[in-house]
Amino acid sequence: MTLTPPSSSSSSSSSTRDKKDKSTANRYPKAVVFDLDYTLWPCWCDTHIQTPLKSVSKTEIVDNYGTYLSLYPHVESIVQELAANNVRIVGASRTATPQVAKKLLTMLHIGNKPAISYFDSLQWGQGSKTKHIKLAANQLGMANDLQSGEFILFDDETRNRDVNKVNCHFVHVPDESKGLTREIFEKGLKQWASATPSTL
Ligand SMILES: [Mg+2]
Repeated sequence: MTLTPPSSSSSSSSSTRDKKDKSTANRYPKAVVFDLDYTLWPCWCDTHIQTPLKSVSKTEIVDNYGTYLSLYPHVESIVQELAANNVRIVGASRTATPQVAKKLLTMLHIGNKPAISYFDSLQWGQGSKTKHIKLAANQLGMANDLQSGEFILFDDETRNRDVNKVNCHFVHVPDESKGLTREIFEKGLKQWASATPSTL
């Protein structure tokens, strides 16, 4: 069985980038929060993945069941873009097996570095993601930024829309076969930018 999503065409991604509206193209929030399961990778890591995990390449692992797993195809360039623009990156997951999620983030690479090295904060556990996001904001000294609307959560589960209560903008990742795509990412940034007055 493979959980590796189909490769995307790089030409469609660059043409999307060319068509981007320049007025909002370069505006980023101070922090982006990512759900993990079905947002960054196509599985529930507490259900579909069994350790031990083996590295197949820098971007693919195989688990004890023979299940192959990679990040969704657009995740790498999105994470690199955020890091290059000094946006803090947070992971927020309700998974029952944070140790498996951490292992995946350590084994799967983004631009030659373990994916986990791009995350400024990782928050785990059941319950509302409002809790995860408030903890991350406090940990990063960004409570005021959260209050002023400088956080976005990308997540496949609409129940997590309740993060709006702590002023975090919610962007739904609707298709588990594609996960976080550049189209969703850019649309989410634009929606956030038009809903959030610039503090500059
Ligand atoms: Mg999820």
